[in-house]
Amino acid sequence: MRVDLAVVGHGAAGLAAALAAAEAQPSARIVVLERTAQPQSGGGTRWSPSNLRMKSSAEVTPDFEADMIAATGGFGDRAYFRRLAREAPEALQWLERHGVEFHSPGYYLSVGPPRIQPVGGGGAIVDALANAAKAAGVNFLYECRAHKLIRGSAGGIEGVSAERADGTGLQIGASAVVLASGGFQGSPAMLREHLGEGAESLRPISAGSAHDEGEGIRMALEAGALAAGDWNGMHSEPTDPRSTGPAPVVLVYPYGIVVDTQGQRFFNEGRGLVHETWEEFSRAIHFSTPGRKAWAILDSRLLDIAGYERAIRSEVPPVRAGSLDDLAALTGIDAHRLRKTIGEYNAACTGDAARFDATRADGLGAADSLVPPKSNWARSLDRPPYLAWPLVGSIAYTFGGIATNDAAEVLGAAGPIAGLYAAGEMTGHFHGSAPNAVAVMRALVFGRIAGRTAIAWTNRNQMKTRQAR
Ligand SMILES: Cc1cc2nc3c(=O)[nH]c(=O)nc-3n(C[C@H](O)[C@H](O)[C@H](O)COP(=O)(O)OP(=O)(O)OC[C@H]3O[C@@H](n4cnc5c(N)ncnc54)[C@H](O)[C@@H]3O)c2cc1C
Repeated sequence: MRVDLAVVGHGAAGLAAALAAAEAQPSARIVVLERTAQPQSGGGTRWSPSNLRMKSSAEVTPDFEADMIAATGGFGDRAYFRRLAREAPEALQWLERHGVEFHSPGYYLSVGPPRIQPVGGGGAIVDALANAAKAAGVNFLYECRAHKLIRGSAGGIEGVSAERADGTGLQIGASAVVLASGGFQGSPAMLREHLGEGAESLRPISAGSAHDEGEGIRMALEAGALAAGDWNGMHSEPTDPRSTGPAPVVLVYPYGIVVDTQGQRFFNEGRGLVHETWEEFSRAIHFSTPGRKAWAILDSRLLDIAGYERAIRSEVPPVRAGSLDDLAALTGIDAHRLRKTIGEYNAACTGDAARFDATRADGLGAADSLVPPKSNWARSLDRPPYLAWPLVGSIAYTFGGIATNDAAEVLGAAGPIAGLYAAGEMTGHFHGSAPNAVAVMRALVFGRIAGRTAIAWTNRNQMKTRQAR
């Protein structure tokens, strides 16, 4: 097969690249390779609510660039985040023209930067872009796994090797390749190698996350790309292991306490707003608790918080008990230890409970004697029924990837690698913790940039070849 542009991956980044390229040059031969069958395609994007850090589809949040530099601990690439801020409105309005609508349904319970969401979540983005790309003549190869880049004698990229589900191989000659195949959260071996022992058993937060096995990253590194981003970094969230649904997060833990399976607190539940603590919390559950499991324990005060249901995405009701002894019996936590932990916690809740405000860091901290501390939302737990949710740490995506610039060109030691572009999760621009509500935005914006830059390069390259003949 011979094409102008081959795109690897059917998430926000890959589909944005394919459609943008097809719109820029309608006569171009473009193919999208996707490892799964069509119903499973879409990677993490399909399962993501896709919160976007925007005031509206026309306006990014104030101080976006500075916030990104702060969120990445100063390691972020300013030019990259500046271009993201500049082109995000154009990208979202482009999605609107393709039928995606946006709304602001509210974000769990806590305040934070303004965010909007596509109606229908990430699935709406995947479907709208895939349909538009098909209508624009893009060819889709499902159940076709890319595994190696084809390199020319001068080091540039000249195509991609793939394998179909029946095991047959496929060589696709392409003037340019866009890699958009997500992170390595679906690879237990890579998780263990880069995030440490035990990371291999991290549960994927959604079915789509499991398909991203880091193959695009590996292929690019083999072709000379530089590694970038925080290879020990991941976005993870606490989820209910009893649930069979996607991303069953339970984000009410700041308003109660969390204990390990032996009844011991191990984390400052109220250190900050939920999106400021969920990664550290779910890491602590997975890497520091016996059995890699914890319990969030609350009482009936939770039911008085307006909209508390928004912060619970598990369909399984909590364990409910009229006394701590009953709660211990139902959860398997040692009753003596649980009573002691809650007794110590309650004794440290000496602040004025009238200050409690679930939506912001309310400063209602527990007394300094409490270890570990609880910095906000410290109200005693003494109003049965007691409610308990089991929690495990689940991985959404990894941060380690390959180096790209603000034109989505993949960078090698000597600069951009000719004919190779990348976007989305597999590009390493995040460090430490994930900037809130930015992953889908950057997949869309840099996916579009990658598609347009790649097709423009293809044209120039083909013209040069014709002139040389
Ligand atoms: C449950 C959940 C909630 C989230 N919530 C938010 C949120 O609210 N806001 C936000 O900004 N971000 C959120 N994220 C993160 C965000 O959704 C992703 O980072 C982003 O959508 C990634 O897009 P992508 O195109 O780079 O990768 P993906 O969407 O993962 O797409 C990668 C595609 O590549 C395919 N693929 C993989 N390997 C190969 C191969 N070798 N050959 C061919 N195809 C291959 C996969 O099957 C997949 O279709 C969330 C993620 C999850 C899982």
